Amino acid sequence: MRIQMPDAVSMIIKKLLDAGYEAYSVGGCVRDALLSRTPCDWDITTSATPDVIKRLFQRTVDTGIKHGTVTVLVRSESFEVTTYRVDGIYLDGRHPESVSFTRSLSEDLLRRDFTINAMAYNYDSGLVDPYGGEKDLAAKLIRCVGDPLARFGEDALRMLRAIRFSACLSFEIEGDTFSAIKELAPSIKSVSPERICVELCKLLAGDRPDLISLLCETGLAGFIMPELDALFERGDGEKLLASLSSSRPDRIVRWAVLTHFTGNPVKIMRRLRFDNKTTDGVFMLTSHSEPFYADISRSGLKRIMAKLGTGLIPSWFDFLDALHGEGFSNDLRETFRDILEKNECFSMRDLAVTGKDILELGCPKGSSVGEVLDFLLDEVIKTPGSNEREPLRELARECIKGLTDNRQT
Ligand code: ATP
Ligand code: MG
Repeated sequence: MRIQMPDAVSMIIKKLLDAGYEAYSVGGCVRDALLSRTPCDWDITTSATPDVIKRLFQRTVDTGIKHGTVTVLVRSESFEVTTYRVDGIYLDGRHPESVSFTRSLSEDLLRRDFTINAMAYNYDSGLVDPYGGEKDLAAKLIRCVGDPLARFGEDALRMLRAIRFSACLSFEIEGDTFSAIKELAPSIKSVSPERICVELCKLLAGDRPDLISLLCETGLAGFIMPELDALFERGDGEKLLASLSSSRPDRIVRWAVLTHFTGNPVKIMRRLRFDNKTTDGVFMLTSHSEPFYADISRSGLKRIMAKLGTGLIPSWFDFLDALHGEGFSNDLRETFRDILEKNECFSMRDLAVTGKDILELGCPKGSSVGEVLDFLLDEVIKTPGSNEREPLRELARECIKGLTDNRQT
């Protein structure tokens, strides 16, 4: 089996080989290439030590020198080149206490989590696969390299990675590996929320996001997302799985679908240390989930466009479709396109008058300015074509007068 490696990767490997060292592409990229999927990045493993790597290549960055990783820059791309390494024992279930370099590729492959992730490749030697990765790829199996209890004991995150790969690739988890996860599930508590979040995001972005149910089946959910267990106990789990399966693999959409069913989107996302922008986006979608949105007016849609921002609107449509069925938001999508095409004003930012104008017209400082602008925006949203400076100023004058009269009485 020949794998087509990017030119830059072949070049890096060739340079290391020419200098008398061993070098291979390794891990996820080999797995993905064998599955005819496009690898997201190409990692290289080599017998050369970091100082040698740095001497051989002009542009390098010390990304993880302690762990033997040097980033090699080729044009605008970067590649992680890591020295063959054996991990020391993991006392905290998170980080190896020490790493030491080795001259043996098969030792380096032995420290890797799953057989399908423990293969290496270069054009000279072809595929190096001492732990049966290719066979497990064909059988669509996630299987630990070595004894699963020992491997999960070293690094508890691997349990979640097993489920993540299962969901991303639509693979089954091999029996002993699965039993070990069930046994050691509570040890996931030792893993940081940030690392858990990365794996959950990849899990949800996969071909089989419905395999998030494995979190409950293995007992991991109780420690990282108890809301999921509660959902299944309420009997609503299947609805979530069906909606996830039918949703587009977009991060915001899938997290919105998940937290729509579990409830508590903000609490869950804060716990997982999501950034504010993603949390706000998911919250916005989950706050607009009702079926009546299919029937809102053009003005109603413009108000939601102002609230969510146009960037989030396509995700909102996808979210509604996932909840209420394919094609649910077709009419909304059409109206949205038309509003944009006709350049109709729907947000304060595009209003032909500003807060400064309103003040100049004699509006008292403070919240009244916002009230006047809201009123004008409402008019403009209702009547396309009315976003003209002079008529709006006229309208503002009346509005200010109304406000001041009201306050005086
Ligand atoms: P992705 O497609 O998400 O990048 P990947 O398999 O490349 O998947 P990475 O996290 O990029 O995953 O790690 C690269 C390789 O490093 C893995 O294929 C695996 O060989 C090894 N690896 C990563 N994390 C672990 C871990 N926690 N324990 C053991 N080996 C690991
Ligand atoms: Mg990778």
